[in-house]
Amino acid sequence: MTTMLYIDGAFVAPKAGGSFPAIDPATEQAFDQVAAGTADDVDAAVRAARAAFDDGRWSGLSAKARADALRKVAEGIRARLPELAALETRDNGKPMPEAEWDIGDAADCFDYYADLAEARAAQPEKTVDLGDARFDARIWREPVGVVAAITPWNFPMLMGVWKVAPALAAGCTIVLKPSELCSMTCYEMARIIDEAGLPAGVFNLVTGTGPEAGAPLSEHPLADKVAFTGSVPTGRRVMQAASAGIRTVALELGGKSPFLVFGDSDVDKAVEWILFGIFWNKGEICSATSRILVERSLYPKLLERLKQEAEKIRIGPGDADGVKLGPVVAKSQYDKVMGFLERAKDSGARLVTGGGRPEGFDTGYYIAPTVYADVPLDAEIWREEIFGPVVCVNPFDTEEEALRLANDSPYGLAGAVMSRDLERCDRVAAKLRAGIIWINCSQPTFTQVPWGGYKSSGIGRELGEHGFDSYLETKQVTRFDRDEDWGWYLTGDQG
Ligand code: NAD
Repeated sequence: MTTMLYIDGAFVAPKAGGSFPAIDPATEQAFDQVAAGTADDVDAAVRAARAAFDDGRWSGLSAKARADALRKVAEGIRARLPELAALETRDNGKPMPEAEWDIGDAADCFDYYADLAEARAAQPEKTVDLGDARFDARIWREPVGVVAAITPWNFPMLMGVWKVAPALAAGCTIVLKPSELCSMTCYEMARIIDEAGLPAGVFNLVTGTGPEAGAPLSEHPLADKVAFTGSVPTGRRVMQAASAGIRTVALELGGKSPFLVFGDSDVDKAVEWILFGIFWNKGEICSATSRILVERSLYPKLLERLKQEAEKIRIGPGDADGVKLGPVVAKSQYDKVMGFLERAKDSGARLVTGGGRPEGFDTGYYIAPTVYADVPLDAEIWREEIFGPVVCVNPFDTEEEALRLANDSPYGLAGAVMSRDLERCDRVAAKLRAGIIWINCSQPTFTQVPWGGYKSSGIGRELGEHGFDSYLETKQVTRFDRDEDWGWYLTGDQG
């Protein structure tokens, strides 16, 4: 089967007729074909979204009507959860229980923004005292308009939903371009949205490659906002493209997030959260805590336990029982991570465990859970985002030193701190230059709270009320509220 594009309420083949394979990273075999949209398809999709926005067929509905439609989408996702999770696992390689979480979160995200749309509509209009009784002013929030959304492959459906749900709740229309490495569940989402009966043109899907579909979408003059999640180099290109039309840009980019473990921590709890912080989703997580800083008193013991537990992690295809680490997403990502491991051999870092392909896996893009210790601070593996199951551990002596090392990165997406001293945790949280801080844990992510980074990790926030607000424009409406003359030009004495 070949998937279709979804444009203006219809499933259509790409104009140029192309497709590319969807590959199962556990078998390295193609299991489907994905429609390869190009600039012509992007243009048709953006024009459909433009028309749907401009005639108010969506933004003109009541918040309740929009919310009801989004709740239908949530129901549609939930009704097919096991099947969608299995598809996500096949396309991406992640263990099935993790895919089930993702798909459940995607449904919850639609419900959350449905509720928020209704709650916002019920709020009284905001008025502002201008200090001049002749005028009154109100502040209106309005949908941004047409959103061009470009997303990555690590949480293929969920990353799309983080944009689609708030944008639609806010009254925007949208064109979604998922990653060419994992497009299948976004295609299924288009089918669910179609079945939920959203008006034509409100949601559009163009699958395709970055250069052929992503680039024309980020450049399209009829889009009002570009919402991008992906790597820093692509984010930079997207921002440049959007600058031509001075379009609003939201960027959710990469990270190299630190995890500070103080000496008073329980070693088993620390090891559990370190493992979760880097091996969950195979380490293909923008917020992965991939740089661990451990107070020297705990360092030897922690490394020993980390090695023991990392070596117990069950590796295998995502649909096998009990598997906690699947193959990385694709050959290109496998080669990229293997390149980091190869170059690390000369970096001076000490390999504690892993470092390559796990034994007994001849097929599939498998990489063993890998731990490095005593990593030089200028080593590539300490500084650059690897986006795979690879963690670096270094010791520290003082809180000040730990913070200095933690903040010494161009990234600022997330950070974590573990200590029994909660005052210290808050003090460290305040000093970490990052948009997401976890205390005594790493990675749990909730729809209700803002998500996004400082520094090179991005611009703007998704999720929570911030995520909704990011799809709204702000308008001031100021009214002269007197019968008297203004009296600046027409002063009344000119005959
Ligand atoms: P990527 O930048 O290679 O691709 C992301 C998307 O951009 C894909 O859909 C791709 O087709 C598209 N694209 C590629 N070239 C383009 C171009 N010239 N113009 C427009 N679009 C283009 O990233 P990836 O490998 O898919 O994802 C991994 C990266 O995403 C990591 O750096 C990770 O940290 C980041 N990420 C960030 C977050 C976050 O919330 N901050 C979440 C998930 C992933």
